[in-house]
Amino acid sequence: MDEIIDQNLEYIIHEIIDDAIFINVVSNRETVICPYCDTPSSKVHSHYERSLQDLPIQGLKVRVILNNKKMFCNNPGCNHTTFAESFDFLNFKATKTKRLENKIIKISMNVSSLTATDLLSKKAPYFLAKLPLKSKISY
Ligand SMILES: [Zn+2]
Repeated sequence: MDEIIDQNLEYIIHEIIDDAIFINVVSNRETVICPYCDTPSSKVHSHYERSLQDLPIQGLKVRVILNNKKMFCNNPGCNHTTFAESFDFLNFKATKTKRLENKIIKISMNVSSLTATDLLSKKAPYFLAKLPLKSKISY
């Protein structure tokens, strides 16, 4: 990977299947902060697997298989008994990494400006040519 996605993630194993690379990672963070009350917790409730799309590597689609922790919140004053570990590179409940989402937005913005250019240079004059002569003159 050209940049480390998160300092707390540990690489376990990877596998290439067809045109995709599956990278299994686990968080090595011992203490996780409850997002609801900001209290640190180190008591793991359970683990669950998340499949995340990331930026492609050398033409391969990238799937990050994240072993996500679910933690207990020890704070009796908190209205949540458990919470999931969250990461800076991911939006809440996202299935794509933030950097992939940003790339998609960038590409789609380029595509729409190309489409706009195309519409203005080709389709618009064609459309104008179809108009009756009088409406062309009135411009
Ligand atoms: Zn809490």
